[in-house]
Amino acid sequence: MPATPQMLPDPSSLIPTSVTEIDVEASGATIAGSKTWQHDLKRAIRSVSVLCERLGIDPNELKCSASPAFPVLVPESFLKRMKHGDRDDPLLRQVLPVSSEEEIVAGFQADPVGDLHARTENGLLQKYNSRGLLILNGACAVHCRYCFRREYPYSDEPKSLEDWEPAFAAIESDRSLDEVILSGGDPLMTGDARLQQVLNRLERIKHVERVRFHSRLPIVLPSRVNSSLLKVLKSTRLQPVFVVHANHPSELVDDCADSLQKLVRSGIPVLNQAVLLKGVNDSFAALSELCLRCVNLGVMPYYLHQLDRVSGAAHFEVPVEVGLQLIRQLREHLPGYAVPKYVQEIAGERSKTPLVEKDTCQF
Ligand SMILES: *Cc1c(COP(=O)(O)O)cnc(C)c1O
Ligand code: SF4
Repeated sequence: MPATPQMLPDPSSLIPTSVTEIDVEASGATIAGSKTWQHDLKRAIRSVSVLCERLGIDPNELKCSASPAFPVLVPESFLKRMKHGDRDDPLLRQVLPVSSEEEIVAGFQADPVGDLHARTENGLLQKYNSRGLLILNGACAVHCRYCFRREYPYSDEPKSLEDWEPAFAAIESDRSLDEVILSGGDPLMTGDARLQQVLNRLERIKHVERVRFHSRLPIVLPSRVNSSLLKVLKSTRLQPVFVVHANHPSELVDDCADSLQKLVRSGIPVLNQAVLLKGVNDSFAALSELCLRCVNLGVMPYYLHQLDRVSGAAHFEVPVEVGLQLIRQLREHLPGYAVPKYVQEIAGERSKTPLVEKDTCQF
């Protein structure tokens, strides 16, 4: 049965900024200088008024919601990549709470992809064959307004390594799981010392070969990719794979480009997933530039997601026909490897569902 909003706790209690705060303190970085990212996180913007002031925008001109249940969170590095004075900036649009979020739209719900149904042990989601997914950390460094897990009950998830043991044991007892996906929230909100412990535990499970990080931190909080993290990633017998999340070419500049290159030059495969978002990247110009910038940084465009229909995100939805047309244009103009797979996550399905034009498959 799909979760209904009534079954979930009050969203304001789920991803409070205080979770971020707790994690900053508990993450235990040890190498000098490696705490920069935690300081960057503390300095992140947490209100509409400060966000608008910094961008030179009059908040009265925007239809904002003043105290949204899913609070504002924008790191300085991400803010720097927005255009001053531009109310329609595609990066701003991803993080600014607007009043349309409060509209109830039929078909949009709290748990659109069936995560709660797939939750087995606390912290472990088993919704994909051969891959176990650990919700390693409920916190994020940015709050994306379209986030499909914005109402996930993160506060119920394990806190200490011992609390994780049932999830590790479940992975251990299922030999079909050769990959563990560390997800969230954002798994890299976990400090390096704890990350090392998690990897050490996973390494002891013989059938686990790969560890995948689904993280937006290399994009929104590039200082997270520091030498201490790279050391942890290099020292594990597991093959690391990174799936980052950038939606617009303006995200892939400056310190963000540096952080991605650090990962790529360490020999780690890095893939990008984007969400097709109205007013952000629903044009050929934005998508082609996004894909080419990725490729030029050594990051492979992986998925273009059709928006998950989470409550409050209806104003971001782009019709599938438009998405298909954009993909066709990308295919016509870009090298084949630069074109992402256009997919949708359907609740209850064991893998992504490709979105393809009806008459393309003739055999
Ligand atoms: C699709 C998806 C996965 C699994 O990814 P595959 O690349 O299809 O194996 C993991 N986490 C999230 C959030 C996803 O949307
Ligand atoms: S970084 Fe990912 S999990 Fe976090 S708010 Fe954005 S989309 Fe959601």
